[in-house]
Amino acid sequence: METEISNDHKYSIACPSCDLIYDLSEVPVNSSATCSRCGHLLTQTRENEFLRGVCLSFSALVMMLIASSYPFMQFSSAGLENMMTLPRTVVELWINGMPWLAVIVAAFILVIPSIVLTMILVMQLIMLYDVKTPLVAILGKAIFHLNSWSMVEVFFVGVLVSLVKITKMASVVLGVSFWAYSLFALFFVFTMMSLDRFQCWKKIEALS
Ligand SMILES: [Zn+2]
Repeated sequence: METEISNDHKYSIACPSCDLIYDLSEVPVNSSATCSRCGHLLTQTRENEFLRGVCLSFSALVMMLIASSYPFMQFSSAGLENMMTLPRTVVELWINGMPWLAVIVAAFILVIPSIVLTMILVMQLIMLYDVKTPLVAILGKAIFHLNSWSMVEVFFVGVLVSLVKITKMASVVLGVSFWAYSLFALFFVFTMMSLDRFQCWKKIEALS
């Protein structure tokens, strides 16, 4: 049986690293609180933090749109040329008898990051304009759950490693999509870094 525990000390949290309890009800704007025992960052408050989140997640989504529409890279070897786009990679994997790999690539590289970013954009807009809605709590839960399932950085490191190998076998021209995906990965990481779990849930509680 699940029991919901009521909490009178709303702004008390346990340090995620060493479990020491802190009251974070009065952290001034533009400052951060770290654990006195282990030094773990507990929370960080910034001016215009929701506007920052809106700008970062929107920029990342625009870069994703460009990355999905233009050529990722072009290979030429022994007179043969081949152009690759991100959606075509998924289709080629499917056609060449690797449907599971196609689904995994599409999900972790394109679909889940796009869904997470769209949800962050909507949540940050709700927070920015102080719209009172229970939707914000649903978004908050989903974002912090799905966050660990998007592997943008892992994919990008994989691409760079493969590039080094491919350039030994064929001449490679990097397309617009490659640079757009690089920027997307960067914006994605910055968007995730801009989300302060404690401050987000404090705002979610006030709005829902
Ligand atoms: Zn600690």
